[in-house]
Amino acid sequence: MSQTFTPISTLGEFGLIQRMSDRLADIPRSAALIEGIGDDAAVYRAGENTLHVITTDALIEGVHFDRTFIPMSFLGYKAISVNVSDVVAMNARPMYATISLGIPRNMSVEMLDSLYDGLRLGCKKYGMELVGGDTSTSHALYISITVVGEVAERDVVFRRGANVGDFLCVTGDVGGAYAGLKVLLDQRQALKDLGDSYEPDLEAHQYVIQRQLRPTARLDMIEAFKKAGIRPTSMIDISDGIASEIHHIAQRSGVGATVRIPALPFDPETRAVADQFMDDIDAYALFGGEDYELLFTVDPSQVDKVDALEGCSVIGNIEEATKGIRAYSPDTGLMPLHPAGYQHFDPGDDNLDVLGPDNFELPKSKNDSE
Ligand code: ADP
Ligand code: MG
Repeated sequence: MSQTFTPISTLGEFGLIQRMSDRLADIPRSAALIEGIGDDAAVYRAGENTLHVITTDALIEGVHFDRTFIPMSFLGYKAISVNVSDVVAMNARPMYATISLGIPRNMSVEMLDSLYDGLRLGCKKYGMELVGGDTSTSHALYISITVVGEVAERDVVFRRGANVGDFLCVTGDVGGAYAGLKVLLDQRQALKDLGDSYEPDLEAHQYVIQRQLRPTARLDMIEAFKKAGIRPTSMIDISDGIASEIHHIAQRSGVGATVRIPALPFDPETRAVADQFMDDIDAYALFGGEDYELLFTVDPSQVDKVDALEGCSVIGNIEEATKGIRAYSPDTGLMPLHPAGYQHFDPGDDNLDVLGPDNFELPKSKNDSE
């Protein structure tokens, strides 16, 4: 009998994770485990009133980054930041990290020094320690980091806590990381077309490039929440774009939501890039991803505190699940909002009657520029 093989792309990234999760389902569950697969980090009891969180994220050359774009020190900092971002999304503080490195033969000791400078800066920035790891040779540079964090039991926030009537909020500004990627892809193309005579013009785009290459996790914002007495009912970090993240919150919480497009916060430099490329800036925020801001919900009784907090915007409402996930703008009215941000093993979608990335010209991955 011949064995059949199913292409992974038929499942998509999230379908694949669900399938792998199902295959682990009969492992006896420890009484200390509070949240397993399905949130930004897993959560388990560490003490009477203390929980620990644990999360892993990898950055892989050719998938997540292009070595010609990103200085090694930025890459080290980013690898720490993307992991801390998942810890922060649980309202927790990072404590310890371990790293697994796959190093290709064409890397030098100096490049590794620089990578570790970035890792060190990241650890110092977030007040954490890198306490171990694993090193091997590899075909492409591979950096996987695991972070353990800590949170008081009363402070932990899951994706699953949003309630109908809550307000949907976001920290900082969004779409900038995607704008940075656009600029970098454009400069790479120009370099290719014009050869060595071309001098990259990156001065005007420093903010968005830094948003792409050297993002910072919003540990400062969860500290600000605490000070202001804000306790989000649910939270997720924005790695794949607001459209994708709001679907995760809604699915885990059993609710629907409306995102108010005119309320999305943009930096002027992000606007300038969108204008330059004649792109719809809203798509950068909804489907671009990698902003590593926090998307969260609060009870209506707390919305004044969010309004008063600098660097926070109210961008929508949590509604009944039957309403689905929608986007509102004065131009289009209410429209269903497609979940797709950047998905590994993209299953594709041919439904064009929704606001989704197919309505915009966005490259699906960083290596799509050719
Ligand atoms: P994030 O974008 O916040 O890092 P992901 O979408 O990568 O979250 O993962 C969603 C959930 O699935 C997380 O709980 C993560 O730990 C889990 N997960 C991802 N990949 C795997 C895997 N290969 N095996 C088991 N769990 C996984
Ligand atoms: Mg996350």
